[in-house]
Amino acid sequence: MKCPYCGADDSRVVDTRPVDNGIRRRRECVDCSRRFTTYEQPASGLPLVVKSDGRREEYDRQKLLNGVRKACVKRPISAESIENVVSQVEDELLSSSRTEVKSKDIGQLTLEKLRDLDKVAYIRFASVYLRLDDLESIKKEVDRLLDQH
Ligand SMILES: [Zn+2]
Repeated sequence: MKCPYCGADDSRVVDTRPVDNGIRRRRECVDCSRRFTTYEQPASGLPLVVKSDGRREEYDRQKLLNGVRKACVKRPISAESIENVVSQVEDELLSSSRTEVKSKDIGQLTLEKLRDLDKVAYIRFASVYLRLDDLESIKKEVDRLLDQH
Protein backbone atom coordinates (compact mmCIF):
# COMPACT_ATOMS: atom_id res chain seq x y z
CA MET A 1 0.00 0.00 0.00
CA LYS A 2 1.68 3.21 -1.22
CA CYS A 3 2.14 6.01 1.29
CA PRO A 4 0.06 9.04 0.18
CA TYR A 5 2.64 11.43 1.66
CA CYS A 6 6.01 10.22 0.41
CA GLY A 7 5.05 7.49 -2.05
CA ALA A 8 6.99 4.75 -0.29
CA ASP A 9 5.75 1.26 -1.06
CA ASP A 10 5.94 -0.16 2.42
CA SER A 11 3.60 0.44 5.30
CA ARG A 12 2.72 -1.51 8.34
CA VAL A 13 -0.77 -2.03 9.69
CA VAL A 14 -1.25 -0.52 13.13
CA ASP A 15 -4.97 -1.14 13.51
CA THR A 16 -7.60 -3.22 11.75
CA ARG A 17 -11.31 -3.07 12.29
CA PRO A 18 -14.37 -4.18 10.39
CA VAL A 19 -16.67 -1.51 9.01
CA ASP A 20 -19.73 -1.83 6.81
CA ASN A 21 -18.85 -4.07 3.89
CA GLY A 22 -15.14 -4.14 4.51
CA ILE A 23 -12.13 -3.57 6.67
CA ARG A 24 -10.65 -0.29 7.78
CA ARG A 25 -6.91 -0.28 8.37
CA ARG A 26 -4.68 2.32 9.96
CA ARG A 27 -1.28 2.14 8.38
CA GLU A 28 2.05 3.68 9.19
CA CYS A 29 4.58 4.40 6.49
CA VAL A 30 7.89 2.67 7.21
CA ASP A 31 9.77 5.54 5.57
CA CYS A 32 8.22 8.75 6.87
CA SER A 33 6.23 7.24 9.78
CA ARG A 34 3.10 9.17 8.84
CA ARG A 35 -0.20 7.42 9.30
CA PHE A 36 -3.03 6.99 6.85
CA THR A 37 -6.25 5.01 6.59
CA THR A 38 -7.28 2.53 3.94
CA TYR A 39 -10.54 0.76 3.34
CA GLU A 40 -10.56 -2.67 1.84
CA GLN A 41 -13.49 -4.63 0.59
CA PRO A 42 -13.40 -8.36 0.33
CA ALA A 43 -12.85 -8.79 -3.40
CA SER A 44 -14.53 -12.15 -3.62
CA GLY A 45 -17.90 -11.15 -2.21
CA LEU A 46 -17.41 -13.77 0.46
CA PRO A 47 -18.28 -12.74 4.01
CA LEU A 48 -15.65 -11.72 6.51
CA VAL A 49 -14.70 -14.51 8.87
CA VAL A 50 -15.30 -13.87 12.56
CA LYS A 51 -12.89 -15.90 14.64
CA SER A 52 -13.68 -17.32 18.05
CA ASP A 53 -11.89 -14.43 19.76
CA GLY A 54 -14.00 -11.91 17.81
CA ARG A 55 -11.29 -10.83 15.38
CA ARG A 56 -12.26 -10.56 11.71
CA GLU A 57 -10.25 -11.68 8.80
CA GLU A 58 -10.82 -12.09 5.13
CA TYR A 59 -11.95 -15.46 3.95
CA ASP A 60 -8.94 -17.53 2.91
CA ARG A 61 -9.65 -20.35 0.47
CA GLN A 62 -6.16 -21.76 0.86
CA LYS A 63 -6.57 -22.08 4.58
CA LEU A 64 -9.78 -24.05 4.29
CA LEU A 65 -8.30 -26.13 1.49
CA ASN A 66 -5.33 -27.03 3.68
CA GLY A 67 -7.62 -28.06 6.51
CA VAL A 68 -9.67 -30.30 4.27
CA ARG A 69 -6.54 -31.78 2.67
CA LYS A 70 -5.15 -32.60 6.07
CA ALA A 71 -8.35 -34.42 6.98
CA CYS A 72 -8.22 -36.37 3.72
CA VAL A 73 -4.61 -37.60 4.00
CA LYS A 74 -4.28 -41.22 2.89
CA ARG A 75 -7.96 -41.46 2.08
CA PRO A 76 -9.17 -42.45 -1.39
CA ILE A 77 -10.24 -38.90 -2.21
CA SER A 78 -9.16 -37.08 -5.35
CA ALA A 79 -7.72 -33.57 -5.30
CA GLU A 80 -10.74 -32.61 -7.36
CA SER A 81 -13.17 -33.81 -4.71
CA ILE A 82 -11.31 -31.80 -2.10
CA GLU A 83 -11.53 -28.68 -4.26
CA ASN A 84 -15.22 -29.42 -4.72
CA VAL A 85 -15.87 -29.51 -0.99
CA VAL A 86 -14.32 -26.06 -0.62
CA SER A 87 -16.18 -24.70 -3.65
CA GLN A 88 -19.50 -25.97 -2.32
CA VAL A 89 -18.85 -24.27 1.00
CA GLU A 90 -18.02 -21.02 -0.83
CA ASP A 91 -21.17 -21.30 -2.93
CA GLU A 92 -23.29 -21.56 0.18
CA LEU A 93 -21.53 -18.62 1.79
CA LEU A 94 -22.06 -16.55 -1.34
CA SER A 95 -25.71 -17.44 -1.69
CA SER A 96 -26.35 -16.62 1.97
CA SER A 97 -25.25 -13.03 1.09
CA ARG A 98 -24.07 -12.50 4.64
CA THR A 99 -21.34 -9.95 5.31
CA GLU A 100 -19.88 -11.91 8.20
CA VAL A 101 -19.71 -15.56 9.10
CA LYS A 102 -18.30 -17.29 12.17
CA SER A 103 -15.29 -19.49 11.47
CA LYS A 104 -17.12 -22.18 13.39
CA ASP A 105 -20.02 -22.00 10.93
CA ILE A 106 -17.61 -22.49 8.05
CA GLY A 107 -16.24 -25.52 9.85
CA GLN A 108 -19.78 -26.81 10.28
CA LEU A 109 -20.61 -26.32 6.60
CA THR A 110 -17.41 -28.08 5.60
CA LEU A 111 -18.26 -30.95 7.90
CA GLU A 112 -21.61 -31.41 6.20
CA LYS A 113 -19.86 -31.73 2.84
CA LEU A 114 -17.23 -34.10 4.19
CA ARG A 115 -19.82 -36.29 5.79
CA ASP A 116 -21.11 -37.20 2.36
CA LEU A 117 -17.62 -37.68 0.98
CA ASP A 118 -15.69 -39.75 3.49
CA LYS A 119 -16.47 -40.70 7.08
CA VAL A 120 -12.86 -40.84 8.25
CA ALA A 121 -12.05 -37.43 6.78
CA TYR A 122 -15.25 -36.16 8.36
CA ILE A 123 -14.28 -37.29 11.83
CA ARG A 124 -10.69 -36.04 11.47
CA PHE A 125 -11.93 -32.64 10.38
CA ALA A 126 -14.43 -32.53 13.21
CA SER A 127 -11.78 -33.31 15.81
CA VAL A 128 -9.60 -30.45 14.56
CA TYR A 129 -12.22 -27.83 13.88
CA LEU A 130 -14.72 -28.23 16.63
CA ARG A 131 -14.07 -27.28 20.18
CA LEU A 132 -14.40 -29.39 23.27
CA ASP A 133 -18.06 -28.60 23.82
CA ASP A 134 -18.76 -30.05 20.41
CA LEU A 135 -16.97 -33.32 21.07
CA GLU A 136 -20.07 -34.79 22.62
CA SER A 137 -21.85 -34.38 19.30
CA ILE A 138 -18.92 -36.01 17.48
CA LYS A 139 -19.11 -38.94 19.84
CA LYS A 140 -22.79 -39.30 19.05
CA GLU A 141 -21.97 -39.15 15.36
CA VAL A 142 -19.29 -41.84 15.70
CA ASP A 143 -21.67 -44.05 17.67
CA ARG A 144 -24.27 -43.58 14.99
CA LEU A 145 -21.78 -44.56 12.29
CA LEU A 146 -20.67 -47.62 14.21
CA ASP A 147 -24.27 -48.68 14.64
CA GLN A 148 -24.70 -48.68 10.90
CA HIS A 149 -21.92 -51.23 10.46
ZN1 LIG B 1 5.64 7.88 3.75
